[in-house]
Amino acid sequence: MQYTEIMVRYGELSTKGKNKKYFIKKLSTNIRQALKDFPEVQVVGNRDRLHIKLNGEDGEAIIERLRPMFGIQTFSPVVKVEKSLEAACEAAVELVKKQYKEGMSFKINTRRADHEFEFDTNEINQKMGSAVALAIPSIRIQMKQPDIVVRVEVRQRGIYLSTETIQGAGGLPVGTGGKGMLMLSGGIDSPVAGYLAQKRGLEIEAVHFHSPPYTSPQALQKAKDLAGKLAVYSGTIQFIEVPFTEIQEEIKKHVPQGYGMTINRRMMLRLTDEIRKQREGLAIVNGESIGQVASQTLESMAAINAVTNTPMIRPVVSMDKTEIIEIAEKIDTFELSVQPYEDCCTIFAPPKPKTRPQVSKAEQYEEHLDVEGLIQRALDGIKVTAIHAGETSESKEQELFASLL
Ligand code: ATP
Ligand code: MG
Repeated sequence: MQYTEIMVRYGELSTKGKNKKYFIKKLSTNIRQALKDFPEVQVVGNRDRLHIKLNGEDGEAIIERLRPMFGIQTFSPVVKVEKSLEAACEAAVELVKKQYKEGMSFKINTRRADHEFEFDTNEINQKMGSAVALAIPSIRIQMKQPDIVVRVEVRQRGIYLSTETIQGAGGLPVGTGGKGMLMLSGGIDSPVAGYLAQKRGLEIEAVHFHSPPYTSPQALQKAKDLAGKLAVYSGTIQFIEVPFTEIQEEIKKHVPQGYGMTINRRMMLRLTDEIRKQREGLAIVNGESIGQVASQTLESMAAINAVTNTPMIRPVVSMDKTEIIEIAEKIDTFELSVQPYEDCCTIFAPPKPKTRPQVSKAEQYEEHLDVEGLIQRALDGIKVTAIHAGETSESKEQELFASLL
């Protein structure tokens, strides 16, 4: 039996008052984008529910696409049959059989929007219940908290049945919260920060600093692969690579070791903020977590943060590393993050960075640098690539391989 429709419930969206229309429109667009390789699908966003009409497209594959989409609380695949009780009974039996395991209970729950239909709600419940019980003799009928609920809706155009409620990803539709620049390293924390920002509706663009030849092409590719993992939630992510070699060399030459890390980070933040302005973002997202390393003491965060007033979003700021890793595993970034390709911070990290740097000292040391010139040259060297959902170096290699066959 083929699903004819998937019905989506909004959850938190339904509390958004006047903005609700906008949220629903955005969710509809995101779903259309995620399903664009299923050309027959139609997406209709109503006030209470969103309906994805499958028109013959593969329901199971579409269910997998919907699972990670933010703004969906739950969803149910639906089967539509002609408006006859026999057809509805047949479909109910098939649906329940699909889910039934020894010892399970069920009930039929009918709503009748079409009052012309020849049977009333009770009659429908009874007749369909008997049909299921007859087809599966060991099943129990149970009104309170049964294992399987067959929801039946009799409408003008047919009878709709569903038995499954699939948990969605929750959160708010990506893009409803404005745009933020994610500072994406190759580490564990920043991809998790990016995921959590997207969960609350932010569209993110990834800014990554690399320092060739000190950092390898693999380190750059790893960051791109991580962006590919985050693109699952939005369809596409713009990946902005920023050349950072000259800045790091200059800092190493002119700044006392203890302040190298602080000034490195201040330069990264200045650059990210410039890129944000050019690309009309409203905030900066990073993977800082209090106390994790020398650059993440409060004093250090304050000294770095002093270069901008732009709102900083630190989704993992008060999480333990183990909690961050749990999410990294769930979103499948952990394996990539622990690959041993070092990024620019690790390579240039001074042996003893200051854990309590002062803004005034940082400013004083920056006078030894041509801050404006360095920033300008780095901005001139930026490269922007659109990364699509699930795109990794491996998947590209496979594609290439397939095309050679
Ligand atoms: P992560 O696991 O995210 O790399 P971390 O624990 O290694 O974090 P740091 O190296 O101090 O911590 O970096 C703090 C934050 O600075 C990162 O979470 C990230 O947002 C940003 N950052 C660090 N290095 C880079 C880089 N090469 N490109 C872009 N952002 C970076
Ligand atoms: Mg790092």
